Amino acid sequence: MLAYIGLGSNLNKPKQQIKTAVMALHATKDVQVVNLSSLYQSPPVDDSKQPDYINAIAQVDTHLTPLELLYVCQDIETKQHRIREKKWGARTIDLDIIIYGVQVVASKQLIIPHPEMMNRAFVLIPLAELEDDLKVPVLGPIQDLIEELGEFQLTKL
Ligand code: AMP
Repeated sequence: MLAYIGLGSNLNKPKQQIKTAVMALHATKDVQVVNLSSLYQSPPVDDSKQPDYINAIAQVDTHLTPLELLYVCQDIETKQHRIREKKWGARTIDLDIIIYGVQVVASKQLIIPHPEMMNRAFVLIPLAELEDDLKVPVLGPIQDLIEELGEFQLTKL
């Protein structure tokens, strides 16, 4: 199954955080990272005192179920947070399952496609970079979603 994972970080060395998380994904049994978008930088949506975010999308080929893949993502978050918490006391990386094949999931733990994806340029733009004619389950063509976004601030690094 092809799935898309959104990665984001805005604390010290966010690019390294993303790289580490991608390597951890690829090192996971039954998960292969087959493509990775460019890195993108954007200002925080809510709190301007936070540093800018760095985001990317990884395309993975996996035999894991959506829930198993979520646990893998959470495990990577925990590991990277744990290392960071000692030094800086903050969360450093987020991994979200954006799309999982054509599957729609709506459970307490997991919603796929990701419920916020249509509002986030830092998800839609790197997704379109990987697959510009992607049809997002339920939501429709990626290019339509990008058109509906309106203005956004996003820098391709
Ligand atoms: P966050 O604070 O953004 O890391 O949100 C984590 C929570 O979102 C977890 O408790 C997950 O169970 C839940 N969640 C729901 N849908 C998703 C998804 N598509 N990808 C990742 N986490 C999800």
